[in-house]
Amino acid sequence: MRYQSFLIKYAEIGTKGKNRYLFEDALIRQIRIALKRAEGDFLVSKESGRIYVQAVSDYDYDEVIAALKKVFGIAWICPVVQLEQKDFETVKRALVEYVGEVYPDRHFTFKVECRRADKTYPIHSEDMNRELGAEILTAYPETSVDVHSPDVRLHVEVRKGVNIFSLMIPGPGGMPVGTNGKAMLLLSGGIDSPVAGYMIAKRGVKIDAVYFHAPPYTSERAKQKVIDLAKIVARYSGPIPLHIVNFTDIQLYIYEKCPHEELTIIMRRYMMKIAETIAASNDAKALITGESIGQVASQTVQSLATTNEVCTMPVFRPLIAFDKQEIVDIAEKIGTFETSILPYEDCCTIFVAKHPVIRPNRNHIRKSEQNLREKIDDMVSTAIEQAEVVWCEAE
Ligand code: ATP
Ligand code: MG
Repeated sequence: MRYQSFLIKYAEIGTKGKNRYLFEDALIRQIRIALKRAEGDFLVSKESGRIYVQAVSDYDYDEVIAALKKVFGIAWICPVVQLEQKDFETVKRALVEYVGEVYPDRHFTFKVECRRADKTYPIHSEDMNRELGAEILTAYPETSVDVHSPDVRLHVEVRKGVNIFSLMIPGPGGMPVGTNGKAMLLLSGGIDSPVAGYMIAKRGVKIDAVYFHAPPYTSERAKQKVIDLAKIVARYSGPIPLHIVNFTDIQLYIYEKCPHEELTIIMRRYMMKIAETIAASNDAKALITGESIGQVASQTVQSLATTNEVCTMPVFRPLIAFDKQEIVDIAEKIGTFETSILPYEDCCTIFVAKHPVIRPNRNHIRKSEQNLREKIDDMVSTAIEQAEVVWCEAE
């Protein structure tokens, strides 16, 4: 079957009522952006609460479905046959033809589900269901009707024209990016943080990211890996400005001045502080991390509390209660896993102590940080001023 159009059914409408159009317009915008990555020309339009994608040139079906499957806010993608002629004879013929093409194996049960949005249409839905059902049974005697749990639901909608569809391809759900503000993702080269970014973007949040590197202790390849991860997340979230912060001097200074078992926690506190400052100056209202309770020493409840106290912005930790395998499953699904497991060094791991504190005492940590007071504020300012921004777009 060669479809010219797709009916887009959207998921949850975050802002119902009067603001619904904002959600729809954002969804249309995101669909247009996503389709730029598929070959062909498309019209995306809204018509009485329905969104349609119409191909106006040749296109590749699989490519279009793949692109639409990455647009948050889409619940279902329905390849649809659109009839301009609405008379019932045309509808009958088109439906029989549709079934003939889409279901070459006719051993299935079906139900016709008509909807008459155009109330001036002369035949009532129930009558249409019955007559169209009979027509199919005559044309394809191997089929049978099951009104309770049919294999196939044949939808016939009478609107300005008539829509015929039965295939419903699941979209990613969520809400269109851009409907829920912006947050700053702390993106490392690991498995967790790209997944965390994906999950928050799925709720309609635009993402900026920050990556801390420590050259020459971390390599160009490690940095490139993070850029590559941002580009993969950008397939779903839209382009991500990645702020790359040189953390070397700060790390060395902490290493020199603070007890080694507290290094990771103190370092993480400075990461959060810097990320928050960069977030604030880029209009992001929250931070996102890939932390999960108990995964490593710096993610015990006490450690998380100690890291958290340096921030005033909300910190979103969508993976907080996930097991590693559950995170890996999502990473595989969204395509970040292969890149995440490339074995390049992370700036956190270079200076880690053999036995890091797992129940940090906040007063001790604050006291240790006093050892940094001479230079740390300047170092933080310099790191922020000199941050490099790389624009990461899906490829
Ligand atoms: P990930 O797999 O995301 O790297 P992780 O299990 O390695 O996480 P940590 O190294 O403790 O855990 O990092 C916890 C979180 O802190 C990460 O999920 C990420 O959000 C942030 N983070 C860690 N290192 C960096 C970094 N170099 N740059 C930016 N953010 C970082
Ligand atoms: Mg990490």
